[in-house]
Amino acid sequence: MLPFKLIYHEDYDLHLGSHVFPSQKYRLVRDAALAEGIAAPEDFLKPNLADDADVLRVHTSEYVHKLKTGTLSASEQMILEIPAGPETVRAFWLAAGGTILAAQRAHQDGFAANIGGGFHHAFPEHGEGFCMIHDVAVAIRRMQADKAIRTAMTVDTDVHHGNGTAAIFAKDESVFTLSIHQERNYPSRKPPSDIDLHLPDRIGDDDYLAILERGLWQAFSEFHPDMLFYVAGADPYREDQLGGLSLTLEGLQRRDKLVFQHARRMNIPVVITLAGGYARNVQDTVRIHINTFLAARDSANAPSAQKPKPTTSGL
Ligand SMILES: [Zn+2]
Repeated sequence: MLPFKLIYHEDYDLHLGSHVFPSQKYRLVRDAALAEGIAAPEDFLKPNLADDADVLRVHTSEYVHKLKTGTLSASEQMILEIPAGPETVRAFWLAAGGTILAAQRAHQDGFAANIGGGFHHAFPEHGEGFCMIHDVAVAIRRMQADKAIRTAMTVDTDVHHGNGTAAIFAKDESVFTLSIHQERNYPSRKPPSDIDLHLPDRIGDDDYLAILERGLWQAFSEFHPDMLFYVAGADPYREDQLGGLSLTLEGLQRRDKLVFQHARRMNIPVVITLAGGYARNVQDTVRIHINTFLAARDSANAPSAQKPKPTTSGL
């Protein structure tokens, strides 16, 4: 039914109870995609756990060992902000396996979405901000190792800066990183991405989209990646509990369309990951993620001649 695959595993859920991170959203998104007839059961693929060898392309063996043996220090546990038991470790390894699978399918089909992942605050030697390991970086490294891609671009529209992504790829000319985020928000220290679009508080749809569009034109004029990894956070939404921007549901979908139009223009495959989303009403977070898939479907089905027009004047 969908022109691309959705990657999902029931054990993505971290079962955090009343925690602000609604990890049940993965199941809710899957259920909504089925209930609304957007996807059929055969549109879903179930990932395997990422191999440790793949995780170790990004993360240090010391950190992986601490995760596997439950020996994070109290301060490491504190900055992670979620409990790091064996089920949580398994969920993050599955999410990384899911983004690897999504990348492999996108390579084949043009698009693929992991109904999970986007853990952009994970660093090689520690996790933070609900992000234990960096699924997107693991998938990029695996795809490069398989020689399926040589270069990649990350476009991160989560309301929070992609600090882990920026740090991991800081000295790597094969991966171009773009982050558009609220400046006065977590994380306090923001290592530089290739393009950082620091936004003022409470920016609305039109201003946001104009800034993003300029950033995308700049990014793709500087770099032509083999694959785009879209970190499609739902938390720039105006009703988000951890965000301070003022995008509407419609504005967020226009954001998605803009990213996909540029990928089409460059004729490169797109891997979607969900990242954050903490709307007061979890159903809004679910709607934002579903809308991302619908925008991807429209883009995948659009005639290839359709191209976005630059907003800047001149040639
Ligand atoms: Zn976020």
